[in-house]
Amino acid sequence: MSIRIDRNKCIGCGRCSDACPGNLLWLDKENKAFIKDVRDCWGCTSCLKACPVTAISFYLGADIGGCGSQMTVERNGFIYNWRIKTPDGGEKVISVDSRNSNAY
Ligand code: SF4
Ligand code: SF4
Repeated sequence: MSIRIDRNKCIGCGRCSDACPGNLLWLDKENKAFIKDVRDCWGCTSCLKACPVTAISFYLGADIGGCGSQMTVERNGFIYNWRIKTPDGGEKVISVDSRNSNAY
């Protein structure tokens, strides 16, 4: 599991850097986010949720049954829409209401 950052989408807001509990994300000289070593990322997805422009995607490897799918998240109020794109071009959206996050 690891993240990927799309430099073309990144607007350099620094929110991912603030959100990462491992202090793994930084801004380079061009004000673009980067991660020094993706192997340090443990996949908490905080940075994905913090990014306002979906510049960060999450790689779903075979280890968790993702088989190379990419996941991004868009926030709409309390709702997080997790979009999963599979290597064969398929797409699935899972919507989660953050107000229910402590319901169980
Ligand atoms: S997924 Fe979590 S640990 Fe990995 S870079 Fe993002 S905030 Fe940091
Ligand atoms: S939160 Fe998104 S737009 Fe902001 S610096 Fe990080 S990757 Fe770039």
